[in-house]
Amino acid sequence: MGEPKAPPGYPDEEFHQSLRPRDFGEYVGQGAVLEQLEISVSAARARGEALDHVLLHGPPGLGKTSLAAVLARELDVPMHTSAGPLVPRTGDMVALLNSLARNEILFIDEIHRLAPAVAEVLYPAMEDHYVDIMVGEKLGAHSLRIDLPPFTLIGATTRADLLTGPLRDRFPLVHQLEFYSIAEVETVLARSARVLRVHLDPDAGGEIASRARGTPRVANNLLRRVRDYAEVRSDGTIRRDTALALLEIAQVDGQGLDRFDRKILESLLDNFSGGPVGVANLAATLGMDNRTLEEVHEPYLIYRGFLRRTGKGRMITDRGARHLGRAASGTLFP
Ligand code: ADP
Repeated sequence: MGEPKAPPGYPDEEFHQSLRPRDFGEYVGQGAVLEQLEISVSAARARGEALDHVLLHGPPGLGKTSLAAVLARELDVPMHTSAGPLVPRTGDMVALLNSLARNEILFIDEIHRLAPAVAEVLYPAMEDHYVDIMVGEKLGAHSLRIDLPPFTLIGATTRADLLTGPLRDRFPLVHQLEFYSIAEVETVLARSARVLRVHLDPDAGGEIASRARGTPRVANNLLRRVRDYAEVRSDGTIRRDTALALLEIAQVDGQGLDRFDRKILESLLDNFSGGPVGVANLAATLGMDNRTLEEVHEPYLIYRGFLRRTGKGRMITDRGARHLGRAASGTLFP
């Protein structure tokens, strides 16, 4: 029970599904969030009630979907899975809500991408367990109320700031997921290696973990690539030298930055004298879409102190410039 069905169009979903932690015990890290959710789950179970609605936010790959599935399993209820772009009309949302049985979970990934009118359907559903639909035509048109059973909405988003105030306010439980420590990523990798039945030397695991941007999804993706490399180039065992060779080919540097991260920093220095520059302008210069820049790359660059968000736009920091071997003014270090 509780296993999410993959929404179509998500690359690699099957691979990541196979590696998902199944319960609180297997879920690595995020200690404070987990502790609070364990209490909420125990209380809901003891009362036989639906868990309060949960909003999980944080950069992609930190385990929001996995945590939703863990909650479903711990509550022992089915989870229905969808995503903002997959629910384009109010009628689709009504149908989703209407399919829920008592205490079940509706997981909506990328909930910030729901159209405002579709999100509005959720307001009375979340608060008072009903939806209003319009039936009939012209003069005969009238609204019909459909009662819903108690249910739990779990929303996941990389951009909590884009949620409307009323939607955000209807989540009693709001939790932000943080980047993982290197040791936590090593634990994720060791478990993934066991599931995939590959031999991962601990020092190879440590090397991959230190370059995985504190993100389990990135770590698992690197592990998959290193596994392929080890199988093709050697006996399949992942040793430190194999991991290093693949990381070199994948152009992941010692701090875990990929070539797009470095291009962002380079462009800030070379095209905008270090900034500040608006995100749309920076993204256009790089031929990248705003969303990828803001949601995938920026959070880690900011977390590592390589880039700063200011009221006037993005700026490279001294640390970011030094990472490129340059001064913040753009000149090469002597
Ligand atoms: P998100 O929904 O935040 O984008 P996912 O839940 O899809 O992230 O996680 C991406 C991958 O990382 C999955 O393969 C999952 O197995 C792994 N993962 C994420 N969080 C954890 C965790 N806390 N412990 C173990 N594996 C994790």
